[in-house]
Amino acid sequence: MEKMIGQTRLVLTQGDITQADTEAIVNAANSRLAGGGGVDGAIHRAGGPEIMAECRKIGSCPTGEAVITTAGRLKAKKVIHTVGPIYRGRPEDARLLASAYKSSLDLAAQHGLRSVAFPSLSTGAYGYPLDAAAKVALEAVRQGIEKNPGKFDEVRFVLFGQPAFDAFARVLRGQ
Ligand code: ADP
Repeated sequence: MEKMIGQTRLVLTQGDITQADTEAIVNAANSRLAGGGGVDGAIHRAGGPEIMAECRKIGSCPTGEAVITTAGRLKAKKVIHTVGPIYRGRPEDARLLASAYKSSLDLAAQHGLRSVAFPSLSTGAYGYPLDAAAKVALEAVRQGIEKNPGKFDEVRFVLFGQPAFDAFARVLRGQ
């Protein structure tokens, strides 16, 4: 499923983000940049130890912010590590989730990375309900693209499994 936002293609796909051929892929990291399960573990496994070596040098990343490393042996040029909130049902959850998406796009734009793939941040171990997260994610990405005009050819969501794809597709159709 696709939609144009200015000159940028916003694409929803289903699959494994480690295989994405975008210039940047975004990792759902934790604030210690320590690696873990879910998409974080998959990215480090597929990309190799160079990614963790750079994460150790950087040290940490606050919730809602983003840092950038090599992509090791992945097809992407860079991995952007961002930290979504652990869902607690607080009003600031949505703000922090939106901030994680927007910080990632700002960092990609600063590095001249013209295509970016995102997983659905915070909706695995961090427990953010999928439908609510999809709304926040698509609105934040729209804002992030509009704030960086002409900087992106494509922003892609690589959604893991049919329920995640369906949740994002429902929101995008309704937008
Ligand atoms: P968080 O801690 O931010 O919740 P998780 O990695 O647990 O991060 O989950 C975030 C989302 O990433 C979940 O929707 C999960 O299904 C998805 N996911 C897990 N592995 C992959 C992968 N290889 N590619 C894309 N998405 C993935």
